[in-house]
Amino acid sequence: MKIKRETQKFELIFEKELEEFLKRNGAYEEFITGKIKCKYCGETITSDNLGVILVKKGSLMFICNRLECLGKIRSNDDG
Ligand SMILES: [Zn+2]
Repeated sequence: MKIKRETQKFELIFEKELEEFLKRNGAYEEFITGKIKCKYCGETITSDNLGVILVKKGSLMFICNRLECLGKIRSNDDG
């Protein structure tokens, strides 16, 4: 039970930080209106399926939480 409660707390903090992060980078409107797509599979990114956000040269790249897509990050990492 304790672990579950801590997990929920973490998720709340994460969502709040995510919101602030997206607002700072001007992507929040696109995110909440469903315009952010996974870089690899094109799936619409929501807070439910968000895997990773990469920041490269000032632009954001969103990756969903599919194992296929997360696996591509490493194999495709050119720094
Ligand atoms: Zn994907």
